[in-house]
Amino acid sequence: MSELRRDPLLDRWVIIAEERQLRPQDAPSSAEYELPTVDADSDPFAAGNERYTPAEVYAIRPNGEPNSPGWTVRAIPNKYPILRVEGDLDPRGYGVYDKLEGIGAHEVVIETPSDLQLRDLPLSQIYDVLNTFRLRMEDLTRDKRFAYVMVFKNHGRSAGATQSHSHSQIVALPIMPVRVREQLTALQQHWQLKRRSLFQDIIDQELRQRERVVFENESMLVICPFASSFPFELQILPKRQSADFRQASVEELRDLAEALKASLLKWKGALGEVAYNMMLHTAPNDTRQGSIYQEFPLIDTYYFWHIELLPRLTKTAGFEWGTGHYINPVLPERAAEYLREIEVELS
Ligand SMILES: [Zn+2]
Repeated sequence: MSELRRDPLLDRWVIIAEERQLRPQDAPSSAEYELPTVDADSDPFAAGNERYTPAEVYAIRPNGEPNSPGWTVRAIPNKYPILRVEGDLDPRGYGVYDKLEGIGAHEVVIETPSDLQLRDLPLSQIYDVLNTFRLRMEDLTRDKRFAYVMVFKNHGRSAGATQSHSHSQIVALPIMPVRVREQLTALQQHWQLKRRSLFQDIIDQELRQRERVVFENESMLVICPFASSFPFELQILPKRQSADFRQASVEELRDLAEALKASLLKWKGALGEVAYNMMLHTAPNDTRQGSIYQEFPLIDTYYFWHIELLPRLTKTAGFEWGTGHYINPVLPERAAEYLREIEVELS
């Protein structure tokens, strides 16, 4: 059982998950990108190997029984979860410290039964993956113990992946992520000053200036953020204000599938194979306590769900850990111009 411990100096929770070190593929390796190749027989996420994973919680399944082949997207509990669903948070003080039981949910979304990577899947399949994120979010947010549900993807060893089969993860947390709280604080301050959403102002300025725009379609915008922490970092934003990813429309998810595929293919064209992290940020969950909405009552007015894409080209080291600031060796405008000009095939 993992536990959450609060660092009182940084007001930041840490998940202590000792059993995670038992993961079989975690053996250290010098390879930055490569993961051990698995043949179809030993790939637990391949069609036909459903018995090697926990029972599915959701699947898009044109054929077959649950937990057998015939699916196209499959969501399962993580076999090595950082947090567990069963139990109570049981908050306890410990002198100046606080801790909670490691309650939450940790799922894996297997994006395809094939050995293709996300960027190489057809748009209709990427749509199905995104819609699976949405549906799992709808389900997990019903549990009022969970303050936040985040989808993320680790691709490549240096991005933290331990399976080469294309997949994403969903984590439901009992605490509010610091990154989300920091953004909400900035959004609230901007709203109090200008009565406008900071996200909306960023989108308006990016569409006016266009120098950091990488791709756009009817409802989505892809930019290299003005203060990118990492070279070739990308952000995908919906043009229409929408705080909650669960409420994304069919058209928006179609456009998002296209924007995501374009982003990943442009990276491929510019950088070759690259390890990366993808994070989907949405509005916090309305918990039983409802405290975050008391603190930030206008979340639904000023927040925009969005996707962050971080290629792992640089290492975070002493400077970054010591200061909390990043050094980015590539001008975001130059990265955007370069990526903009790379032609991609979208189908
Ligand atoms: Zn974000």
